[in-house]
Amino acid sequence: MIELLKKLISINSISGNEEEIISFISDFLNQNSVEHKKIGNNIIVELGKGQKTLSIVAHIDTVPATDGWSSGPFKVSINDDKIFGLGAVDNKSSVSTLLELILEFQEIELNGKIIFVFTSEEESNMNGIETVLSHIKPDSAIICEPTNLIPCTAQKGFVNLNLKTKGKNSHAAFPGKGDNAIYKMIKELEKIKNITFEKEYPLLGYPTISPTIISGGIEHNIIPDKCEVILDIRTTPIYDNNTVIEEIKNIVDCKIEVLSNRLKPIETKNNEFVKIAEEVCDSKSTGFLALSEMCFFDCPAIVLGPGFLEQAHKPDEYIEISQLEKAKNIYKKIIKGFLN
Ligand SMILES: [Zn+2]
Repeated sequence: MIELLKKLISINSISGNEEEIISFISDFLNQNSVEHKKIGNNIIVELGKGQKTLSIVAHIDTVPATDGWSSGPFKVSINDDKIFGLGAVDNKSSVSTLLELILEFQEIELNGKIIFVFTSEEESNMNGIETVLSHIKPDSAIICEPTNLIPCTAQKGFVNLNLKTKGKNSHAAFPGKGDNAIYKMIKELEKIKNITFEKEYPLLGYPTISPTIISGGIEHNIIPDKCEVILDIRTTPIYDNNTVIEEIKNIVDCKIEVLSNRLKPIETKNNEFVKIAEEVCDSKSTGFLALSEMCFFDCPAIVLGPGFLEQAHKPDEYIEISQLEKAKNIYKKIIKGFLN
């Protein structure tokens, strides 16, 4: 498994650039006589027969490499129990674990079907999983992401808004002759900063609203007539995407463009599948604090995988080797428990 993981890390698969890793996975499956379907840059492997279906999904792409790596992002290094490299924890440890599991489950009889899914573009637009879900209809799903092997049954939604204030240009020596769009934006942002949410969602806490990008003005001596701010908004099932968008629309006096509103908050209520996962992991479910492909599933789904999320999306990303074997055993037990 370690050799496989090292190879996967060494392949550059920054989101949108998945051709090479897809052909590597496809070759690996062919060499092991595993039938698979390729849909775009996504791969589906179906094993077993029967009514019940469980889908287990891992994305194969990574975020772009940032500066500051001790060795290169694609140069794998090992130190004690840690494997370093871009995608080590997010998400190639899961990819290598699933590939190993496919080989094992070729030999195991199940009362149902496992659908292994390898998706592209998760770190950019999540188009991969949407494409795949137009071809499969699982009864339950595991989305493999770093959760320290604790099952996560809820996830925040995501909204991206662009606020635009409009003013009037003038010479900066006569600011009163113009209308400063940056000052107007400050007023709007103050109103947004004062929004409070009273009800806490048990597994997810409160919604958050953060201005993350600002632009306005073209020269130091011109009063700006335009200012724009991007808001990153994370929602909960109590305050869902549309509720928060409406709340903002009601209090601001500027133009708002909705850039993204397709990732809704989601929770899988306690059911048979969640119970199996909690028992196998010997842990109560919690909430997943980042985004994952979970929100595209309309069946009971959990996020569960090896490693810590805090290790992802930064230089010297790593996975603890001991997590790999644990992850494999946990997935195996959940699959067997559900398709028994
Ligand atoms: Zn991920």
